[in-house]
Amino acid sequence: MITTDGLGQDELRKKKVTVIGGARSGLAVAKLLKSTGALVFLSDKAPRESMQQTTEELERDDIAYEFGGNTQKALDSDTIVLSPGVPLDIPIVKEAQARGKKVVGEIEVASWSCRAPIVAVTGTNGKTTTTALLGRIFADAGRPSAVAGNIGTAFSQIVKGLDDRSTAILEISSFQLDTIATFRPKVAVLLNITPDHLDRYGHSFEKYIASKCRVFENQIQDDTVVYNFDDDIVRGNVETRVHASVRKLSFSLRHQVAEGAFVHKDELRVRFGDKETMIVGVDDISIKGSHNLMNAMAAALAAKVMGIPTASLRATLKNFKGVEHRLEFVREVHGVTYVNDSKATNVDSVWYALQSFSKPIVLLLGGQDKGNDYTRLVDIVRKHVKSIVAIGESADKVARAFSAVTPVRMADSMDDAVKLAAALASPGEVVLLSPACASFDWFENYEHRGRVFKELVAKL
Ligand code: ADP
Repeated sequence: MITTDGLGQDELRKKKVTVIGGARSGLAVAKLLKSTGALVFLSDKAPRESMQQTTEELERDDIAYEFGGNTQKALDSDTIVLSPGVPLDIPIVKEAQARGKKVVGEIEVASWSCRAPIVAVTGTNGKTTTTALLGRIFADAGRPSAVAGNIGTAFSQIVKGLDDRSTAILEISSFQLDTIATFRPKVAVLLNITPDHLDRYGHSFEKYIASKCRVFENQIQDDTVVYNFDDDIVRGNVETRVHASVRKLSFSLRHQVAEGAFVHKDELRVRFGDKETMIVGVDDISIKGSHNLMNAMAAALAAKVMGIPTASLRATLKNFKGVEHRLEFVREVHGVTYVNDSKATNVDSVWYALQSFSKPIVLLLGGQDKGNDYTRLVDIVRKHVKSIVAIGESADKVARAFSAVTPVRMADSMDDAVKLAAALASPGEVVLLSPACASFDWFENYEHRGRVFKELVAKL
């Protein structure tokens, strides 16, 4: 397969390529490149002792490597491929760019070998939920597909197994979009854009927006963009930046959009041309909250574009229970419902979590701060939150932001936080872990934070 600006598989043969970063995706792309005949060199700054398994796999595939730093050897190639975790501003990448080398990401490279149409899901929040839901929709409909990208499995790992009758369903982060060149989804889904990760974009919201919009930059005729009509930033950018020949389908909670998905009489409906189809009753969708209704609408549109039958789509929307750590019901103890939303690592996702409940909430909030502005939460906290238990490094900041709004208690550990919350909540209320922050202060990652929370709740 030859792409216009990328490298076709034929061109890759005997080409020198350096992969920077030897974690899961880096290793997968190195193997993929090797299998297409490229001369691959993998470079990682981690010490060799910590890369035992990677070393074994590289040697098995006869791939050259260096660990413990990126030396000049890494620059002895025309193309540099970055693993998704590798920032663009490290010295070796800057030097490569200065020397005019092609610098691309793992997703871009995998797309060069992809024979299947791609459905790519991006946005600040809801990517994993929507991607996983789409994966289930395809599986339930008996349609060959694979789910990959930011969701866990590297695209490079599964791409060779896909033929043109299958579909690649990809969760794509903004960092992954920063290193594309020719990546072209058949269907691009843009869920929402709110401030997040601004530390990685020189604190420029504009740059972050531009990064997200790259998902549709290579789309052409017969491709589709599915976008959030209610998000002014998304709508404005799609209306002005998407190529005129690309089909635009929007979803909205507030308007009956001309083409796309909307809610009418408590039903999720889609309209293509002048044909309107009832997909499912809103109350029958098993993932709850208005944010999940938007995710469901986005997934339904992408699925219909890809020819999934309505009956099967409806059944999946009724059955799909969501993804762990996203508004996940844990258990009920003494009439109090415990919910794990550890993946809520920014302010916007907490806003949606809070408005998903009609019962009073005891909220576990805080962690490693990412420059959060809590003003957006003040009104909804006043309305829905009975008290806050402040956790993590940012507990003081949380207390400063909310003490005038609702009672705030400080916790020294998750154990302390769960006990405090259990004491504060009355039957009929909700204890919600939805921290608005990264987890690296007390935990390895958000999954670890969510698991610890669930284990402590299990002991109550
Ligand atoms: P992502 O993969 O984009 O981080 P997830 O599906 O993992 O998204 O959800 C992350 C957090 O955002 C969770 O707390 C979830 O409840 C919340 N969320 C999910 N979908 C949306 C949405 N469409 N808008 C706002 N928040 C959402």
